[in-house]
Parts: sequence; structure tokens; C-alpha cells
Amino acid sequence: MKVMDLRSDTVTTPTKDMYQEMQVAPLGDDVYGDDPSVNKLEALAAQNLNKEKALFVPTGTMGNLIAVMAHTRPGDEIILERNSHIFLYEAAGASRIAGVQPLAIKGIDGVMDPKEVEESIREENIHFPTTGLICVENTHNMAGGMVQPMENLQELRAIADQYKLPMHLDGARVFNAAVALDCDIKEIAAHFDSIMFCLSKGLSAPVGSMLVGEEGFIERARKLRKMLGGGMRQAGILASCGILSIEQMTVQLSVDHQNAQILSKGLNKISGFSVNLDKMHTNIINVSIKDRNISSEKLVMEMKAKGILANARGKDYIRLVTHKDVTLEDIHYALKIMESI
Ligand SMILES: *Cc1c(COP(=O)(O)O)cnc(C)c1O
Repeated sequence: MKVMDLRSDTVTTPTKDMYQEMQVAPLGDDVYGDDPSVNKLEALAAQNLNKEKALFVPTGTMGNLIAVMAHTRPGDEIILERNSHIFLYEAAGASRIAGVQPLAIKGIDGVMDPKEVEESIREENIHFPTTGLICVENTHNMAGGMVQPMENLQELRAIADQYKLPMHLDGARVFNAAVALDCDIKEIAAHFDSIMFCLSKGLSAPVGSMLVGEEGFIERARKLRKMLGGGMRQAGILASCGILSIEQMTVQLSVDHQNAQILSKGLNKISGFSVNLDKMHTNIINVSIKDRNISSEKLVMEMKAKGILANARGKDYIRLVTHKDVTLEDIHYALKIMESI
């Protein structure tokens, strides 16, 4: 049976070029700064986002944690969105390891109201924690891969400047945002002091994320990465794939977005499935199954039995994610199967 894995874009396997590049990539010990492939990837990431420096990290979660640690001091408060990945899905690392207190603001489709952000910034008072950081997520994972409007980023940046606060972007899928907005990634990055993005999602690298920012920040981040156990040795094996992610794979993301549109529109023609197309910006599809008399968990199991892997999200939604390893042909096939369920 053919199996289509639509659970996430993290399931993407390396491209043929990546497998080839891994075998010939020049390697060294990256903790000594001696790995030419890691150095090349870090320079490429910094240049692409128009920042001074970059750091290769094993995971996006570690990249976000390092950013929080490098921007704040223990006992600070950080402002983030209620459904953000840092708040929901990073096992409270920011609290436990960085020692900061999260102040979570409920956004609309993941977009925080700038006024509420401003009102949440602490005044100086002997009783209060000190606000140390504002975090933004783009695209917003839980909102179904929705893009944060550029005006919102501008407004948040203005507030951050006024209160002299750093802003971090959890840009796990920020390349998807740039593709959806048809803008240069630099235009998004310009609003932030630091950006984390994942190589290992739609960009198809097997492992790895990048943390990007100004020189002093990346210096502190490098030491924190070592402390957290993320200093890797001949990491050029992985970095060589990351280079191709940036150089070759961003065009794939627009294909992923088109396929997500085709899948969503197809699902809307099948009774009991509904996708809000207005909220479909990129490659993540939240499919409402409210009109079916079945729990999302059960439906996911039925789909699995027919070769389609998906995730349940709450009891009324399933979540499908398009990516390189699912072709347009697969999408049409998946729709046929969904019709039969
Ligand atoms: C996947 C993801 C991360 C973390 O990436 P890992 O490499 O899986 O640790 C962080 N933020 C968002 C929004 C993500 O989707």
C-alpha cells in the first residue's frame, strides 16, 4: 500500500543533491570553528537575512531557547502569543532553563494586538519582573500556517524600539511566509533582532535550524549552544544539506502552497470536510470535520488504515501539511481516498 505522510513537513527526506553533497562536503570540528561547510552555511544564512552572523543549531527548539537566553536574564518576563510554539510545544524550556516568565497574549489567528503588547510591557516597579523580550511566530503554526501581516510586524517593531526591547522571530517557516507574501526574506527579517528558521521542514534538510542576528548576540548564542550540548563536531555533513535548502529548496515551497490549495479545494467538495480558504496562506491545512459523526482521532486512524497519515487537532479538526515528498499526483490520489472514507 502506498503511504502518504501528511502529518508535517518535518517528514521530508533529503534530496538527491543533498545525499551527493553529504559525501563530498569538506568537514572539520565545528566546536573549533573548523568546519568549512558549517561556516559556509552560517555565512549564507546571515547574508540571506541581511544580518551580521548566524549559528547552526540542531533543532528549532534549541534555537528559540538560545535566543530567549541570549536576550534575557533569569527572572525577566517575555511576551509571546498564547498558541505560539515556544509557549505550547517547547516543554516550558523558556521557564525551566532560561528562567523567564512567559506572558502569553491571545492573538487572532496568531496575530497579537500591538496595543495589548504595549500594555503588557512592565513599568519599573520593585514588585514587577522586567520585560525582556517580545517573541513573534511567522508563519504561525497553530493558526494553520497563517502569515503575520507586515503592518503588524512594523507596529510591534515600533513598540519594541520605543521601550528598547529586543524582538525574536520564531520563523520555523519564515521562508513560507516570504513565498506567500512574494517578498524578500530580508523584508521580514528587518523587523527582528534575531530570527530562528528551520532547515528541516519544507526546506527538506534532514536535521538543523539557523539562528541569525547581530555579531555580539551570535557570540553569546554560540556559548549557550555549547552549554546546552548543541556543539556538534563534523556537522558539515548536515550543514551541506542546509546550504542546498537555502540555495535550491525555497522554490519548492510555492509548489507546496499550490498543492495545499488543490487539496483544500478538493476537500471542500467532499461532504463533511471543510477548509476555510481565507485562512489558507501556506502549506498547513486545518480541516474541520464538525459535520462528520466521528472523532478526529478515529478519523485519523481510518485514514491511516488507507495509507494517509494525518494529525488530529482537537476533536473537530484534522491537520494536513503538504511538502516535497507528496506530489500533485499523490494529492489527487489522497482526495480519492478521502472521498471513500
Ligand atoms: C517546528 C517548529 C519549531 C521547532 O523546531 P524543531 O526543529 O522541531 O525543534 C519551532 N517553532 C515552530 C513554529 C515550529 O513549527
